[in-house]
Amino acid sequence: MSEHVRKPDWLKIRLGGNEQFTKTKSIVESHCLHTICTSGKCPNMGECWSRGTATFMIAGDICTRSCRFCNTLTGKPLPLDPKEPANVAESIRLMNLKHAVITSVDRDDLPDLGAQHWVDTIRTIKEVNPATTVEVLIPDFQGRLELVDLVVEAAPEIISHNMETVRRISPQVRSAAKYDVSLAVLSRIAGQGATAKTGIMVGLGETPEEVCCLMDDVLDAGVSVLTIGQYLQPSRKNIQVTEYVTPDQFNVYKSIALEKGFRMVESAPLVRSSYHAEKHV
Ligand code: SF4
Ligand code: SF4
Repeated sequence: MSEHVRKPDWLKIRLGGNEQFTKTKSIVESHCLHTICTSGKCPNMGECWSRGTATFMIAGDICTRSCRFCNTLTGKPLPLDPKEPANVAESIRLMNLKHAVITSVDRDDLPDLGAQHWVDTIRTIKEVNPATTVEVLIPDFQGRLELVDLVVEAAPEIISHNMETVRRISPQVRSAAKYDVSLAVLSRIAGQGATAKTGIMVGLGETPEEVCCLMDDVLDAGVSVLTIGQYLQPSRKNIQVTEYVTPDQFNVYKSIALEKGFRMVESAPLVRSSYHAEKHV
């Protein structure tokens, strides 16, 4: 299917452009920072940046992996920027963020896979912005759970790791991450008392039954916050959309997930892991 599946009206995107949008853009650019908002061509940029919020992407903008749904550049990354933790922290201060969301590219090229850079960034943000809550969306660290522990010890308020899709489709769209490794990462986070969060995309050919199985799997792992959003093909080189899931079906997923026991569920076409993330603390 898909390049001919017409985008439905409920996916119409609000463009940004107010004064706050320009200020957010200028803070990000003047500190030489990357955001997943731009790298991922997020449809919510107009809304989020106009509200003065953005999701910073640390450890560069070149990923060592090449997931088929992702628009981030792939290749040999540049060395880490030792000034990045301070630049992110300062940008958060200037943006006056009550809740900051940080993610990263995967750095499979580094001996610690970027874990210490994560720790440095979380600690510096907290030093500079003691009242700001911090949410991190971390990679799987190749299943090296001792590296997950380092992030947990830095004590961000929420630790997120995305399952991305159901078990059957996972190998087709994720370049190296594995379903069970991601479950183990989430289980390790929750097992240490931290708030564990995960997100998935729908519209990749999954069935509602498979989505429900995923809910059970991540609940068993201790996840309490779940986000579900529509996959949108960010460029022609990415995997095509199989289906535009209706808003009604998103509501059904939300009801099922809440009934199963998640503390917080965001389920709607334009939901992304970091969308309205301040509500998940
Ligand atoms: Fe950025 Fe997240 Fe908002 Fe998208 S939903 S624009 S990634 S903050
Ligand atoms: Fe994108 Fe996959 Fe790299 Fe994450 S690991 S930034 S989803 S290519």
